[in-house]
Amino acid sequence: MQYNEMSKEQLLQLKAELDERYKEAKAKGLNLNMSRGKPSATQLNVTMDMLDVINSSSDLKSEDGTDCRNYGVLDGIPEAKKLMADMMGTTPEHVIIYGNASLNIMYDQVSRAYTHGILGNTPWCKLDKVKWLCPVPGYDRHFAITERFGIEMINIPMSVDGPDMDMIEKLVSEDESIKGIWCVPKYSNPQGYTYSDETVKRMAALKPAAKDFRIFWDNAYVIHHLYDDKQDEILDIISECEKAGNPDMVFEFASTSKVTFPGSGVAALATSKDNVADIKKQMTIQTIGHDKINQLRHVRYFKNVAGLKEHMKKHAEFMRPKFEATLKVLEDELTGLGIGTWSEPRGGYFISFDAMEGCAKAIVAKCKEAGVILTNAGATFPYGKDPKDSNIRIAPSFPTPEEMSEAAELFVLCTKLVSVEKLLEQK
Ligand code: PMP
Repeated sequence: MQYNEMSKEQLLQLKAELDERYKEAKAKGLNLNMSRGKPSATQLNVTMDMLDVINSSSDLKSEDGTDCRNYGVLDGIPEAKKLMADMMGTTPEHVIIYGNASLNIMYDQVSRAYTHGILGNTPWCKLDKVKWLCPVPGYDRHFAITERFGIEMINIPMSVDGPDMDMIEKLVSEDESIKGIWCVPKYSNPQGYTYSDETVKRMAALKPAAKDFRIFWDNAYVIHHLYDDKQDEILDIISECEKAGNPDMVFEFASTSKVTFPGSGVAALATSKDNVADIKKQMTIQTIGHDKINQLRHVRYFKNVAGLKEHMKKHAEFMRPKFEATLKVLEDELTGLGIGTWSEPRGGYFISFDAMEGCAKAIVAKCKEAGVILTNAGATFPYGKDPKDSNIRIAPSFPTPEEMSEAAELFVLCTKLVSVEKLLEQK
């Protein structure tokens, strides 16, 4: 029976039962964390042999003869460009290899646009107002970057096909102060949705009023499938933008953070040749070059994109049971109750849960009280403010499948309890 069809008496009785179960759950003294998307230690073990690929007797010359032990090569060794280009589905001339992580590149792109401007346009710091589009729910660290620069963020609703393109087309064409949009186009954080071909094409064909409007295309989960036989595919945004006559409109980002070692990966940006030249001109002031030994280590380990994809299957072996354990509990316990909906991703690192309006904060707090840490409610929205107080991001990657089941059991119990309390308030 749906909870909202229950009488006050039925709800009160249910609440008494749930209160009792919650007390018992609390007494178990759980200590589980499903808040951040990071691999478990056992999952990291699958990459340990990468550390043996290079040692003191290795030849550390890249394929063009560069001595990777020394200074030089601003934008990455050729074989690393090729590997990262293949991973993103583009070609090496579009790619700049950076350091250990992609978030840093995104920050840098916003920062440089803010202080020095993009391709000769006015630096954003000289403008009265800069605005940004934020598909929601989204990634809290993206929103933190734009918030840091005082950029006004506008929520754009997401659907299974990607963000609301009608709204985006209208806004960017009418408002010159809108300078960018955050996109996680494949296995989005947190919903695990992948943009449809139509969404990608409409995105590439945008007609922004601002000449320096940029799509920040964070392809963080481009090869992070959970299944061999059910994989999402996505069009290459770089060539779609070229075809639509907007070659400069996109910055694409990716890294091997969740392929090898988070924090010790290789990160890359892909964009048009003009943007590459513009960025490199400014990059020479920032660095003499990034870690080429790590680039070489990655290339020698994977050899090519096929090697990368094979490796991702090993990660999927660890991730799949955790997702499935979580989804099973949600399905068994919440189906038909009308108190929550959730995504069922085929890749990425997260499951997104939408509780009844006004319940998310209370659910997260109740879980915490009983020893299960979730990402703060609201974190998936700009300024940490979910207007409906409904969305909760579940990150199943770190605990074991058994722990994930246990954590999900507590999560559904708290969801039921908070929902009953909410409905009783309304009676
Ligand atoms: N983008 C998204 C969408 C992410 O979820 C994450 C990691 N949680 C990152 C970027 C961070 O990537 P990196 O380690 O390359 O900075």
